[in-house]
Amino acid sequence: MTNTGLVSLVHLGCARNLIDSELILARLAEQGLTVTGDAAQAECVVLNTCSFIGPARTESYEALEGLLQRKREGTLKSVVVAGCLVQRYKQTLREDFPQVDLFAEISDYRGLAKSVRALADGKKIQDYLSSPGLRPAERDDARMLATPGSYAYLRISHGCDHTCSFCAIPAIRGSHRSKRPSAVVEEATELIAAGVRELVIVAEDSTAWGRDFDMELPELIHEVADLEGDHRVRIMYAYPGRFPWGLAELLRDHPRVVPYLDIPIQHATSRMLKAMRRTASVDQVTSTLQRLRKEVPGITLRTTMLVGFPGEQEEDVDALVELIEDARLARLGAFPFSLEEGTHGAELPDRVDKKVIEQRLERVLQARDRTLKSVQEGHVGKTVTVTVDEPPDGEGWVVTRGDWDAPEVDPFIQVFAPEAQVGQDLRVTIREVDEEFNLIAEQVPVEETA
Ligand code: SF4
Repeated sequence: MTNTGLVSLVHLGCARNLIDSELILARLAEQGLTVTGDAAQAECVVLNTCSFIGPARTESYEALEGLLQRKREGTLKSVVVAGCLVQRYKQTLREDFPQVDLFAEISDYRGLAKSVRALADGKKIQDYLSSPGLRPAERDDARMLATPGSYAYLRISHGCDHTCSFCAIPAIRGSHRSKRPSAVVEEATELIAAGVRELVIVAEDSTAWGRDFDMELPELIHEVADLEGDHRVRIMYAYPGRFPWGLAELLRDHPRVVPYLDIPIQHATSRMLKAMRRTASVDQVTSTLQRLRKEVPGITLRTTMLVGFPGEQEEDVDALVELIEDARLARLGAFPFSLEEGTHGAELPDRVDKKVIEQRLERVLQARDRTLKSVQEGHVGKTVTVTVDEPPDGEGWVVTRGDWDAPEVDPFIQVFAPEAQVGQDLRVTIREVDEEFNLIAEQVPVEETA
């Protein structure tokens, strides 16, 4: 058996769930528990799960099975399961996995940490912690950052009021609740004081922020960007309908707002967007993309597409491929439709055959790769400022990002810089594109940067 009181966390899912993992880690440390990044060394492992779509759920179950196997083998004393899988399936999980020591729904995680403390002290605990209702939209407590100091995620609201036909998130995270500006500004100030260089704004729908108290996202972004410090702000999860156009001015003119926007559009025909219960028509989506490109020259757009939704025809995928190429949507994630019980989409007829979904997804990803290759090649020769995300590897190369790339989901820029530190800015010239569409750059001699 391993060391007493040593606890570890296995994180699954999106950036929003990562913030929850960071909150759990901080609460565990407050209980005097020693947190290790090496789950193999831990006596207790907390698994923070994802349950967004089928493949993510499978990953959560497989991770859980792996931990329970270690428990059966005696190399792990206790297993704690938290996150979206618990929030979605609640007590049924308990029946399916009676060997789990604790299930915890989404909350401020204080209760979870106290229970892990009790487990470490050999005390008996209640094995299920319900969440005390919808998480209040107040500031998050202190977090133990799991991201490198160069960036951190900043959640500005919880939940979602949209009813996208394929999505289970509103059932998991509840209706939309914006954090008050003072709460977000307080968290941002602390992250900047901790040396974080890039604040990555996340929510289920960032552009809905403030509408529950007659404010709009640009007001908040302006306040966060104007804070004292050497930081910048990147916005993820914008919704293409009812777009707050004041944002375009900030994306174009504010020196601390990165000219980048993640705006999931999901599909490219009004027939499919209507069936998906997306509130923006294809004309609204394309005019929003065109206006963003016009009003914010050089903006980088990221998006997400869903392929294989019931009723989808080949010509819908033709339109999707065409939009990717015409709108130069190079930074793009695409997912196969996953039948999510409890969602409207799960009840729809005209399901698309699994094989056909895979073929269509391949077409979409090939269109994305063609576009990405050409966009990245267009960057060769440019001189830009990048920030170091990872320390030099054995050969002295560092992973960096500039304005074009969000962390963890987009390509990156590799630079030979054996002396560089995480969070440091480098001035570089793009030299080539590698086979995975990452960029390779060369540092610009200091005298040329003056
Ligand atoms: S906007 Fe749609 S896809 Fe996104 S979280 Fe809300 S319901 Fe889900």
